[in-house]
Amino acid sequence: MTRIHAPHQRLHPVTAPAEQEAAELPMRYFPAFLDLAGRPVLVVGGGVVAWRKFRLLRDAGARVTVVAKHLAHEFAETGEESGITVIRRGFATGDVLGKALAVAATDDRDVNRRVAEAGADAGVPVNVVDDAALSSFIFPAIVQRGEVVVAISSSGAAPVLARRLRARIEELLPQRLGALAAFARRLRESVRRRVGDPGKRLRLWEEGLEGPVAEAVLAGREAEAEARLDALIADGKPGGSVAIVGAGPGDPDLLTLKALRLIQGAEVIVYDKLVSPATLGHARRDAQLIYAGKSRGNHTVPQEEINHLIAHHARQGRRVVRLKGGDPFIFGRGGEELNHLRRQGIQVEVVPGVTAASACAAAAAVPLTHRGSAEAVVLVTGQGTNGAPKVDWSALARLNQTIAVYMGVAAAPRIAADLIEAGLDQATPVAVVENASLPQERALFGTVGSLPAVMAENEVEGPAVILIGAVAALPQADASAVSTPLAG
Ligand code: SAH
Repeated sequence: MTRIHAPHQRLHPVTAPAEQEAAELPMRYFPAFLDLAGRPVLVVGGGVVAWRKFRLLRDAGARVTVVAKHLAHEFAETGEESGITVIRRGFATGDVLGKALAVAATDDRDVNRRVAEAGADAGVPVNVVDDAALSSFIFPAIVQRGEVVVAISSSGAAPVLARRLRARIEELLPQRLGALAAFARRLRESVRRRVGDPGKRLRLWEEGLEGPVAEAVLAGREAEAEARLDALIADGKPGGSVAIVGAGPGDPDLLTLKALRLIQGAEVIVYDKLVSPATLGHARRDAQLIYAGKSRGNHTVPQEEINHLIAHHARQGRRVVRLKGGDPFIFGRGGEELNHLRRQGIQVEVVPGVTAASACAAAAAVPLTHRGSAEAVVLVTGQGTNGAPKVDWSALARLNQTIAVYMGVAAAPRIAADLIEAGLDQATPVAVVENASLPQERALFGTVGSLPAVMAENEVEGPAVILIGAVAALPQADASAVSTPLAG
């Protein structure tokens, strides 16, 4: 009888401190990627666990033989074309012969042990599901994007940790990373022909697979990507690009994955006042961070200067991220910057963000629309280009809509007065949400009539959004009971 290899033993006793120990430990399992296309693989067992392993192996192109007395119904949906062979009986030692791999996935430890022993005798690597001691190989946690595959293992020490790592890597890797690999594979030969020098070629791919070329592929614009790669090859200089990115309300957890990726890759970040330090913390160490904040009545950097600055860095071939609080197209002047860059012929894209009204609504548990009491929502500014905005308050004082006032802290008393004059009931509920999503977040409740007092007594400084409408009473009321008309 074959002895199953003993659990791993250290060759040298380790007495070093913890952080050195990690480096000194030999690698318990050697990672490798197997070509299983068309090769025979054995799965012993017919339950759901066996089925999951079968599916993985089948997806890798293996010809799988399943040995089991009973099959879970999941197997029934497996067609002939998937190359499965089913043998309906118990395991026999000879089943492992000639196989590239074997997997024991029965709930009978003796059977699993027999598979492991037969594998050891025949030189066939065996995995016993959930039993590392009996296994000669283990399955990693996998993240897949087309041909790009990431395999993670904690050597069996902490499968939960490996799964959590996988989840984090899942978040980090763009969905279309596989397309990027395919793009590189497709152009590899022609690039090899056009760029003879291996060092140059390496730098070209480094640039191409990170910068605007990659972004174009990831956004599904392959023709543009190819043109950019051509330009790179022709003059050796990368083309710069600008992404106008919404940074959300402040909490970096509310960034989109795309925003995070662009921030992490940016060489220059031009950011506004409302972009939180935690969000900027995701920037590269060597990124140039430029503050272009404007605050009310204190235009630190004029818009033309910002436009010029962004265009300048892009023309130098840099990857520029123009980072704005919330969404760039909601009171963010994103449109003006977009037009300017387009006129200059600079490649630019816009990435949406969670706007303050959404973040404030979520923070205060005030839905912006609500069946029966809010059929519309309007986003309005409390501050115009030169003082009071040109807003028709009587149109806003209509029934059944939520008004979200941005930049309205200073003008709150005037806005309340205008709305009441326009016919809005002064008992209309109001919620004021300050610093939504940030640690100092506050939600205050009142009515249009009491709004000036609520602002003054609580010393609201902003940034804050004033939510006006029946929905603002929902957090305190039984949700189903609220259908108070706003005026009348
Ligand atoms: N583009 C941004 C809005 C910029 S205007 C967006 O889509 O959210 C600035 C105003 O946004 C502030 O005066 C305030 O009304 C609102 N605001 C921005 N961040 C906020 C936050 N974290 N909490 C509450 N209001 C916020």
